[in-house]
Amino acid sequence: MNPKHLAILGCTGSIGRQCLDVVREHPQSFVVEILAAQGFSKALVSQAKEFRPKVVAVAKSSDFEVLRQAFEQDHIDVAAGENALAEVVAMPEIDMVVSAIVGFAGLRSVIAAIEAKKHIALANKETLVVAGEWVMNRLKSLQVDLLPIDSEHSAIFQCLEGEKPNKVEKIILTGSGGPFRGMSLERLQNVKPEDALHHPTWNMGPKISVDSATLMNKGLEVIEARWLFHLNPNQIEVIIHPQSVIHSMVQFVDGSIKAQMSIPDMRLPIQYALSYPERLPSSFQRFDFIRNSPLTFEAPNTHVFRNLILAFEALHQGGNMPCILNAANEIAVEAFLQHRIPFLRMPVIIEKCMNMIDFISSPDLSQLIETDRITREVAQGFL
Ligand code: NDP
Ligand code: MG
Repeated sequence: MNPKHLAILGCTGSIGRQCLDVVREHPQSFVVEILAAQGFSKALVSQAKEFRPKVVAVAKSSDFEVLRQAFEQDHIDVAAGENALAEVVAMPEIDMVVSAIVGFAGLRSVIAAIEAKKHIALANKETLVVAGEWVMNRLKSLQVDLLPIDSEHSAIFQCLEGEKPNKVEKIILTGSGGPFRGMSLERLQNVKPEDALHHPTWNMGPKISVDSATLMNKGLEVIEARWLFHLNPNQIEVIIHPQSVIHSMVQFVDGSIKAQMSIPDMRLPIQYALSYPERLPSSFQRFDFIRNSPLTFEAPNTHVFRNLILAFEALHQGGNMPCILNAANEIAVEAFLQHRIPFLRMPVIIEKCMNMIDFISSPDLSQLIETDRITREVAQGFL
């Protein structure tokens, strides 16, 4: 395959670092042209010294000088400021933009990448939750590809290869259940952010780890799947599968089910998204059925983990409701991580925002950005 020239946004995070592992495995297949993060860090500097991109971009304008000095001898340009990421993704040498920024903050650079007709490998699920309809329409009219990195969506994407979309009966999204699976409401009253950050099967950034613990992550993935695969909400089922070996499944009109499986390792879906339509070899660990038996399944407990129900509700209502859900969730998760609110307060804040903020049935992009802003303000008031 011809080498693909990459912009990696969110390179210092959990997905970003694993993306660079994939590049290390396949130096002939990928060239890193841009590394981008929120701000200066030692990790960013050492990544740039190793991968020698043309540009390092950060959102924090005040970090420009320290980065410029760090790369003075290296012929690496620095871009900094709130427009920096959206500008650099349009560079002519870029083939593909990897979006691994966390939260609503990732939306703007994805939009800029689509407008510049760059193919996208998407980890930032919040983009499709907030603006799924707009993004999918724009991808279609500009003939830009978007490849999912999220393991569930990569699994569904792989199961759908060679199949006709109208032969899909439903998709079955699997989730590990998170670190608090099986706990009662009473026990959840006292759980701490540190407990939520200890995920049983995946090692992820703090925001998605909390989302995993509340089942909001699964809710966001349901909405993400609805747009990516053009489904209606009742074609999406969620089941808990604690071993995280089956990454998701598709059931077809004849009742046949396809599953995609592997040990839980995000480098696999990342590599698939980067190399698609090729499937590259990898040295990653193989799954052993005999040692890892049995695989188990259970229904999600939505009485205890209400965020999943709220996400389905937002999906059914449509319009700007998923955007409200997402913004309220980002504020609630941040407050929980800072020990400012207890675990069980999170769904309460999200539900209040969903009930209170003006519903818009067909929002345009500017209305979604405004919905995000207002929701954050209102949610702050509920902390
Ligand atoms: P992390 O918190 O580990 O990393 C976040 C990255 O985004 C960092 O590089 C950070 O830079 C950067 N960043 C944060 N805010 C901004 C901003 N305003 N502008 C520019 N860059 C910013 O997150 P994860 O890697 O865990 O998750 C990234 C996304 O991928 C999320 O949307 C998540 O839901 C999704 N995802 C993650 C999975 C995982 O296994 N981790 C699995 C599936 C999906 P800095 O270091 O400078 O702060
Ligand atoms: Mg996932």
